Amino acid sequence: MATDSGADLRIPQDLLPEDGRFGCGPSKVPATAVDRLAEVAPHLLGTSHRQPPVKQLVARLRSGLTELFSLPDGYEVALGNGGASLFWDLAALCLIERRSQHLAFGEFSSKFAQIVQSAPHLAAPEVIEGAAGTCPRPHVNVDVDAYCLTHNETSTGVQSEVARIGLPGQLVLVDGTSAAGGLPLDASSFDAYYFSPQKCFAADGGLWVALLSPAAIERAARLKSASRWIPSSLDLSLALQNSRQDQTYNTPAVATLFLFVQQLEWILEQGGLRWATARCRQTASIVYGWADRAPYATPFVPNPDQRSQVVATVDLAPEVPAGEVSKVLRRNGIVDIDGYRKLGRNQLRIGMFPAIEPEDAARLTHAIDWVAARIGVANQI
Ligand SMILES: *Cc1c(COP(=O)(O)O)cnc(C)c1O
Repeated sequence: MATDSGADLRIPQDLLPEDGRFGCGPSKVPATAVDRLAEVAPHLLGTSHRQPPVKQLVARLRSGLTELFSLPDGYEVALGNGGASLFWDLAALCLIERRSQHLAFGEFSSKFAQIVQSAPHLAAPEVIEGAAGTCPRPHVNVDVDAYCLTHNETSTGVQSEVARIGLPGQLVLVDGTSAAGGLPLDASSFDAYYFSPQKCFAADGGLWVALLSPAAIERAARLKSASRWIPSSLDLSLALQNSRQDQTYNTPAVATLFLFVQQLEWILEQGGLRWATARCRQTASIVYGWADRAPYATPFVPNPDQRSQVVATVDLAPEVPAGEVSKVLRRNGIVDIDGYRKLGRNQLRIGMFPAIEPEDAARLTHAIDWVAARIGVANQI
């Protein structure tokens, strides 16, 4: 077997996507948004986040998200620094009262369960595990006060249905990090839906956003006034208090906020969540259609309903090593389609967020076919 059979492979120009970024986060940031940022930079970057130029951005972010997700009366948008990972720590302090239930079916959903497991102030959570590539179901448990779901498990490419579960007084907390803006969502189904901007919202990372129901807001306020110690940077009530004034508790990355708002308003102009989810569905049908047809490729997720329309995972035959394919593609300007390392499979993982042009996804599949044919021959299919 050749060790680097693809070192001199040059993919023909007409097979190359216009934009080669297919990562699952950070993901493609549209060039137009970066151009707009450069235009407004002299009046925005390096200016105070307590003054109108930045506060107006936060206001547009909050009202845009309220519109995009058709949030019911009483629901609010909170934001802060630290990304979805920070929100797990925050949720362990401000949203879980005593004990939670977790669905763990991949790297991200498992991480939140581990955080809660190690929290000294909480009881051991109920963890319902599912094999990689599948999604377990939650069940009602009178002994928990929060159900922790993951709308899209980014490490395995599994999407799940977010539906309200539980009894009055129990909260539904949903990690929507890679799903928000690309998968359908019914706002009445959750109490907290949190995400970061570097996936469907095509910005840089660093921020967390949470859509909160009145019950979630009430829970956070109650836990704060109880005897629990809540550090300020992890205090959801304090974050919400600042968000209501179109600010963050501490200084945010202003460029990230700007890019986030650009993508959000672009999606709203195009037709909102219905448009964005239809576009992702179209891109996904191109990618899975290819994976079904190509003799050397197979969608990793067995249940077609659970195949994510924002993150595709595709297994390759052993004679076509995914690492080699990805290396050749990278040399040709197509980046970040490697599988999730810890999954340890011969797999490609492709971001299909709203910023991705469906036509570019089609070209990507042609480029992979072209490379696979040459690597496969070199490895003697
Ligand atoms: C990316 C991701 C995270 C982590 O987001 P950060 O902004 O890096 O903290 C958490 N959950 C899911 C489902 C993700 O896709």
